[in-house]
Amino acid sequence: MTTLLYTHPACLDHDPGDYHPESPARLRAVLEALAAPEFAGLGRRQAPEAALDDIARVHPRRFVERMLAAVPASGHIGIDADTILCPASGRAALHAAGAVVAAVDAVVAGEADNAFCAVRPPGHHAEPGRAMGFCLFNNVAIGALRAREVHGLARVAVIDFDVHHGNGTQARFYDDHTLFYASTHQFPLYPGTGTQDETGISGNIVNVPLPPRAGSREFRLGVSGEILPALNAFRPEMVLISAGFDGHKSDPLAQLLLDESDYAWVTEQLLEVARRHAAGRVVSTLEGGYDLAALAASTAAHLRALMAAG
Ligand SMILES: [Zn+2]
Repeated sequence: MTTLLYTHPACLDHDPGDYHPESPARLRAVLEALAAPEFAGLGRRQAPEAALDDIARVHPRRFVERMLAAVPASGHIGIDADTILCPASGRAALHAAGAVVAAVDAVVAGEADNAFCAVRPPGHHAEPGRAMGFCLFNNVAIGALRAREVHGLARVAVIDFDVHHGNGTQARFYDDHTLFYASTHQFPLYPGTGTQDETGISGNIVNVPLPPRAGSREFRLGVSGEILPALNAFRPEMVLISAGFDGHKSDPLAQLLLDESDYAWVTEQLLEVARRHAAGRVVSTLEGGYDLAALAASTAAHLRALMAAG
């Protein structure tokens, strides 16, 4: 039993432009960190493209087709001010979603204890009918729906510690009591959603907004005091993680003061919940993180915790 690492070279080809923070250099930094000898035990797998049927559990087919048709033959096209497509973006998005689908399949099949998807573009801002915030398809939600619909898991949870609220995941999960979404995020901050009174249809949404300059203490209190009790009460049969590392104190896009030790800690907490309710099944996928050194160190801390659980 082991930890799997899913990635694909296509995810390096998505290039939203020279000055865009969501750059290919992010994924290169992550992969370089995970090439260290201590990660030799990872089971490395190539991420397949997601099938349209898998994406269509989250996004209307019309939307998916429109998005793929919008991919330019050359140059760049903006979906919104932040979400830019280049000719390689469609394939990158398909492999990013396909990574989470394949990771869910492998972990449910017992091929590994848990898995991490080192992919981009990220996904948690993508709403069912709207790409936004650097995100085209909602990778983590596509994986969660795969777990429920194809593998028949009764209850599936996504925990999102990216510094931004995952409005897209919340939108897909809001009215479905078999799905659970919890997020810590800086507030106020893009995209402006994620207040505590957004609680879903059955308390299945838990938001922990944190003020600018909140750090380890506030983050851990929010996770321990609000997210973990609700998550344990939900009794997830699988735990997915939207692993964004832009809450790091070095990150240029936000003002939280987390560090690598906080990411190791929250990973251990989520593994503990998964052991109790979900036979240890955890699938994590990369979201944000824009300081390359902090991103690399934080991802390494996250992977160390995942591997220690194996
Ligand atoms: Zn983010």
